Amino acid sequence: MRTNRFMPGFKTPEELRDIQLQGLQWTVNHAYNGSPGYRKKLSDAGIRPGDIQSMGDLQRLPFTTADDLREGYPFPLLCVPQDRVVRIHASSGTTGKKKVLCYTQKDIDDWAHFFARCYEMAELTLEDRVQIAVGYGVWTAGVGFQLGCEKFGAMAIPAGPGNMEMQCQFLVDFQSTVMCCTASMGLLLAEEVHRRGLRDKINLKKMIFGSERSSDAMRARMRELLGVEHMFDIPGMTELYGPGTGLDCVHHAGIHYWADYYILETIDPDTLKPSGEGEIGEMVVTSLRKEAVPMIRYRTRDLTRLIPGECPCGSPLPRHDRLLGRTDDMIIFRGVNMYPRQIDQILSGMEGISCEYQIVLDRRGDGKDHMTVKAERRQGVDASQNDALGRKIAAQIKHSILVSADVEIVDYGSLPRSERKSRRVFDNRE
Ligand code: ZN
Repeated sequence: MRTNRFMPGFKTPEELRDIQLQGLQWTVNHAYNGSPGYRKKLSDAGIRPGDIQSMGDLQRLPFTTADDLREGYPFPLLCVPQDRVVRIHASSGTTGKKKVLCYTQKDIDDWAHFFARCYEMAELTLEDRVQIAVGYGVWTAGVGFQLGCEKFGAMAIPAGPGNMEMQCQFLVDFQSTVMCCTASMGLLLAEEVHRRGLRDKINLKKMIFGSERSSDAMRARMRELLGVEHMFDIPGMTELYGPGTGLDCVHHAGIHYWADYYILETIDPDTLKPSGEGEIGEMVVTSLRKEAVPMIRYRTRDLTRLIPGECPCGSPLPRHDRLLGRTDDMIIFRGVNMYPRQIDQILSGMEGISCEYQIVLDRRGDGKDHMTVKAERRQGVDASQNDALGRKIAAQIKHSILVSADVEIVDYGSLPRSERKSRRVFDNRE
């Protein structure tokens, strides 16, 4: 049974709309008066703080982008005096300057509160023991997992990432019931537990995966090796406090997000117009209570879709789908827009195939683009199956994505695994 200590008080979409409108009015006013950068952006768009009268006015607000954050380096869009800042985190972007975000004490407290809500959504109890195997430091936010866990009242085991020997020992000695890690690390851990024959000596019930998408096949493998009851996806980004901005409930019918802390829109990344109901689009977020660096229509570059209707759990918190990739992950192959996630989904549904894969794109002598999908055979499946498996996958790719790919089946364990995010797309076309 889910407790109700950290869930919001609203019951209906109308009540939520009132909370959001109030938060939006506060945020626009606060940003306008607190940051010269925001004041200029808003003024350029013809917006003054008093102009926000209804949720429809959200559409009139200008977008904020990663460039706005980089331009203000080191402390972009800061809306409070520097002496109110109690912490910074930085986003480990892959190109150019890092994005550094400031937090006030209230921001930290809010983050801990809604992170505690994640554990509540996952139906933890005070008896749970939470092994936190994610990074701690300026780039990563293990501290979010930790503060939320302590606020919730479960036992936090701040293990940090990697070090499988130690992780296995903690699982056995401390009888951890919940594991927080990346999905890649979860898989490594599962294989390690299996290799050491520890399955009957551990007490793991739930896993919470941050910062990386996990495929259905990876999940199936971990479930098989660890026997856990539930696996959850925890979204989050430094621009919006950090991880913990939502969680799927035990029905796993989408991620409930904390709509009393931020507004989530999805837009078509090309036209910038709202995506249709239930359609995939770029996730755009607007914070409602963030003091140090509020976000106004921040374009996250993450793709997802809003899930209409009510969840079987009855929570009034709305839902979005798992993250379906980045707008810049989009592969344009022979004129077709596709996402690695689509290949992932095809392979996940395929018997005899493991969850590791690579997509290699080449431009050959004929001037045409070619795609090769390398997929691993599952452990125990014979190599004589290669041709049949390859043909089946190629046909499925053709059928669902409408592109042709060469499929190469490789031995189980031959593609690289990593504790962090695994690189899966190799575009050699330029
Ligand atoms: Zn639910």
